[in-house]
Amino acid sequence: MSASEAVTDALRELHGRFAGVRDGQRATYIPELAGSDPDDFGLALVSMDGHSYSAGAADTPFTLQSVSKPFAYALALASLGLDEVGRWVGAEPSGEAFNAISLEPDTGRPANAMINAGAIVTTALIPDSREAPAFQRILTCLSRFAGRKLDVDEAVYASEAATGDRNRALAYLIRSTGTLPVDPVAAVDTYFRQCAVRVNALDLAVMAATLAHGGVNPVTGERVVSPEVAAQVLAVMATCGMYNGSGDWLLRVGLPAKSGVSGGLIAAGPARFGLAAYSPPLDATGTSVRGRAALGELSERLELHLMRNPALPGSTVTLVTTADVLPSAPSGRRERALHERVGVVAAQGALDFTAAERVLYALDESGPERNGAVVLDLREVTGADSLALALLHSGLSRLARDGRRAAVVDPGDRLGPPDLVRERTGQDLPRFASREEAVEHVAQAMAGPG
Ligand code: GLN
Repeated sequence: MSASEAVTDALRELHGRFAGVRDGQRATYIPELAGSDPDDFGLALVSMDGHSYSAGAADTPFTLQSVSKPFAYALALASLGLDEVGRWVGAEPSGEAFNAISLEPDTGRPANAMINAGAIVTTALIPDSREAPAFQRILTCLSRFAGRKLDVDEAVYASEAATGDRNRALAYLIRSTGTLPVDPVAAVDTYFRQCAVRVNALDLAVMAATLAHGGVNPVTGERVVSPEVAAQVLAVMATCGMYNGSGDWLLRVGLPAKSGVSGGLIAAGPARFGLAAYSPPLDATGTSVRGRAALGELSERLELHLMRNPALPGSTVTLVTTADVLPSAPSGRRERALHERVGVVAAQGALDFTAAERVLYALDESGPERNGAVVLDLREVTGADSLALALLHSGLSRLARDGRRAAVVDPGDRLGPPDLVRERTGQDLPRFASREEAVEHVAQAMAGPG
């Protein structure tokens, strides 16, 4: 037993809640999938620190099917870039079933990369490299997302290859519109292999977590795709990942997600969690019934809905006051009066643009008086990204222009190297190791001649 078992308990509880659901049908159009066990039900969650939790049949193998699509799309985007990929496949929800003949009337492009038509094109776009043929590259990419070497379920591949005439027909049709850059038979064969790659629910959660974590696999630490590509894939999953159920899913569950006809389902809570479910019986949109229910419930319980609360950072500003109320304030009347004109702001945590805006606003609040001074205490700040730094620097240079003296408590040089700060703020911003020294310095400077 351990403390984090509590997370597993939450998954077990959800598992127990939906295990008895008997709705839905297994996919039978790929004959081999009809042999899956309808009672299998697994749930998994992987955090941005790579901690994994699971309940039920989380290590039962099954094939990726359409859950492979976002990851193949990621590889195409990483290889060719959004503009080139976008020439061949769109990014609009089709509002139609996964296997619909859904081609844009004017361009002939498939609507998006999450439906079969678009996924076949996406796969076809991935070029052979000098080191490896296209399918090998796809398998390697999927494996890096999962953090382990994946393989192909040859029986499922053969079963779909023997019966997949609709997908072959789609490929020929796309080729007839001039939007399939390669041989239709070869394209569909690679696509079938990609769909037959074997995973379990835990793998899926790691794959989803890698997208949620900006393209770095949180378990292995490996960068699989760039943050830009991860964001592009999540965006298309959010609008198109659940086919004709995408709008409703985004409305109710609020997460980028992708389902597959073997019963796999992933959802990604950006910067939070990768979630996955496996349960073969499907609803009319081709989505796992138990998976939908469980991940929907999980998103609600963990408050993951993207539109509801886009990861509000904890409080950035921990103190906004004037120096006269600090414990270190002097008792003399004249000094006290000086200290009243020294604003003090303390910040904490990691600063991004949003957090930096709060800090600047607090600087203004701490004493809007001209000719006053301000001390910005950054000792509890753990880091600042380049956008935050640029905003802080320009805010501090505005303060100087307004005639407000500033000093920082910044023993860790969170504001950047002194040279850079001088260049950006147009002043030698005094830095101190303690708040008392900084307050004393600006108070003296105000009192001094001039
Ligand atoms: N291989 C399946 C097909 O092309 C994938 C479909 C799905 O999972 N929705 O029909």
